[in-house]
Amino acid sequence: MPNPPNFPAGLYITKPKVYVVGRQTVVSEEVHRFLADEGMIFTTDTEAASEVLSEIAGRTCYMSFGKGRKSNKEYLENILTSKHGSVLEHAVWCLLLTGVSRALTHELVRHRAGFGYSQLSQRYVDETDARYVVPPLFQESAELRGKFEETIEHLRKAYVELADAAAAHVQQKYPELPPRDRRKWARQAARAILPNACETKIFVTGNSRSWRHFLELRGSVHADAEIRLLAVEVFKALKRESPNIFQDVELVDEPDGMPSVRIVHSKV
Ligand SMILES: Cc1cc2nc3c(=O)[nH]c(=O)nc-3n(C[C@H](O)[C@H](O)[C@H](O)COP(=O)(O)OP(=O)(O)OC[C@H]3O[C@@H](n4cnc5c(N)ncnc54)[C@H](O)[C@@H]3O)c2cc1C
Repeated sequence: MPNPPNFPAGLYITKPKVYVVGRQTVVSEEVHRFLADEGMIFTTDTEAASEVLSEIAGRTCYMSFGKGRKSNKEYLENILTSKHGSVLEHAVWCLLLTGVSRALTHELVRHRAGFGYSQLSQRYVDETDARYVVPPLFQESAELRGKFEETIEHLRKAYVELADAAAAHVQQKYPELPPRDRRKWARQAARAILPNACETKIFVTGNSRSWRHFLELRGSVHADAEIRLLAVEVFKALKRESPNIFQDVELVDEPDGMPSVRIVHSKV
């Protein structure tokens, strides 16, 4: 459906984007120094730092370097089946998520254990040109989507008018304030009427134990449709990063037409 007249192109977003902006590296010299000091030998068959570090962390518990399971996949499978989940906290990724709504991030930040967040500020950033996320249900029907876009059009205009009026009021009543603070005061008041659908961007750092828990809860058919779509994209990105840590996780096509994320070893 085309954007309503006078609206910038690309105002509406239908799918989240996941950027893997940070992953770990192994400091091989230090690993070799440790192994030499302890008189041990360790080799592994994976090149993914997340997987190497998780295996080193786990093997440190029993000083089992060079013993037992041979492949990294087998080693991590044992970690998963025995629910030795703290080992998975040593694998960490930073994801930059865009094209997600404020409604979604309100749910996302409820995940506290093992996550760090930095999110776009609606106090500092002018939301006049903000984009809006169309809930998946509204994407199914031209009529619903039309009503949604009409409502957003009203709210967007109201935000601009209210922000301008607030800025004029602050300038008149608090002329001594630096201009930056004046704009901030106006925006922080005007944002009260921005809808949950307003797009936001959030930088999330999480360890693999936490990401697995997120995938389990938010990739489920019981989760909100938008965050479920995000969980599917996060799963694809993390599975590429570490097939072994996420070896028991897969996508399943559901009767409602959307995939869900299924995890064999729940809440490791
Ligand atoms: C389908 C669905 C519907 C929901 N509906 C609602 C709702 O209506 N209202 C609402 O408020 N929330 C709702 N939530 C949010 C939910 O209650 C959790 O806050 C959210 O999913 C975060 O998960 P978590 O509690 O496992 O926390 P995480 O931070 O992801 O923690 C992971 C695990 O660490 C442990 N942990 C974390 N923090 C603590 C702690 N302080 N003390 C002890 N153990 C801890 C727990 O074992 C926890 O499961 C919903 C979630 C889902 C998936």
